[in-house]
Amino acid sequence: MSFVEEHAKYDWDDVRLSIYAKTAKDVERALSKTRLDLEDFKALISPVAEPYLEQMAQRSFVLTRKRFGHTMSMYIPLYLSNLCANVCTYCGFSMENRIKRKTLSVGEIDRECEVIKLMGFDNILLVTGEHENKVGMKYFQQVLPQIKKHFSYLAMEVQPLKTEEYSLLKQLGLDAVMVYQETYHRSTYAQHHSRGNKMDFDYRLETPDRLAKAGIDKIGIGSLIGLEEWRTDSFFAAAHLQYLENHYWKTRYSISFPRLRPCEGALQPKSVMTDKQLVQLICAYRLFNNEVELSLSTRESSSFRDHVYPLGITSISAASKTQPGGYADEQQELEQFAISDERSADVVAASVKQAGMEPVWKDWHQTYSG
Ligand code: SF4
Repeated sequence: MSFVEEHAKYDWDDVRLSIYAKTAKDVERALSKTRLDLEDFKALISPVAEPYLEQMAQRSFVLTRKRFGHTMSMYIPLYLSNLCANVCTYCGFSMENRIKRKTLSVGEIDRECEVIKLMGFDNILLVTGEHENKVGMKYFQQVLPQIKKHFSYLAMEVQPLKTEEYSLLKQLGLDAVMVYQETYHRSTYAQHHSRGNKMDFDYRLETPDRLAKAGIDKIGIGSLIGLEEWRTDSFFAAAHLQYLENHYWKTRYSISFPRLRPCEGALQPKSVMTDKQLVQLICAYRLFNNEVELSLSTRESSSFRDHVYPLGITSISAASKTQPGGYADEQQELEQFAISDERSADVVAASVKQAGMEPVWKDWHQTYSG
């Protein structure tokens, strides 16, 4: 059993129509409950919930502070390689793009780690394209122990692996894996992934199952907002979260909401999500699930992030470079996408403090467990 079977129980159009059929009464019912189900979640992300945004935001703020305190976990991505054997319509690293390719050596990684450590980070997200021959298990086994020497919390965003491979990486210090489905709509997924292993929708969909079975501490899920109708995709991410929590209750989960950003070969979003709608979605996830970690990256602008993160966000990236070697060498032409919030880590941390929260550089869970 995996989420593939659960996913098959839903019909995309039925879900979409049921979201748009929600009424103000459904929203009020959801807001009156302490334990929300997926029907309540649909109501909160529906267009009729927009007039209730202030109420949702207040509740989301209180629930987040109650569960996570006045803290904000800080992390930074480290791009190890931009090699990729997939064609994805929305990404600068796509195999078809004629860009300079680079994979960091152990020495180059050390230099990146030193610059990152000086900024204060202890929680790092390793990112690569998906190229299993050149940036696969052999490479990961070589570089993970090296990177773990510098950081106490190690997350990865790489190609889906087998359960036993995740187990092996866990032994080398891997704590968390982010694996976004991009879209839960099968045929739209096929349109955007035309070559490479990533074409296999089901293998990707069951990756969080394999991660949980391997005992990885935290799993990040989500969809790339804009590829499909965002409300329906967000419902599927919520259903995925619920399924995972029911089956693997020892694992921690996080959700991200990346919105499509300009990149080489840029793609126009099919479904545009406004800032206000992103706030609605963040609050809806928090009301639906008090425990889930919610993450906001530097794809979003500084002013938007400053206004939004007190409402429900629990972790943010800062000072991100999206190209291999970006911290020590500043080679901008290799980047995956242009970031929007370009402030330094210190400045972002100061804005977190100004919002009444304490930036936490070490992952909170590790800190509390010693
Ligand atoms: S999204 Fe990932 S798999 Fe697709 S082209 Fe970019 S790096 Fe490769």
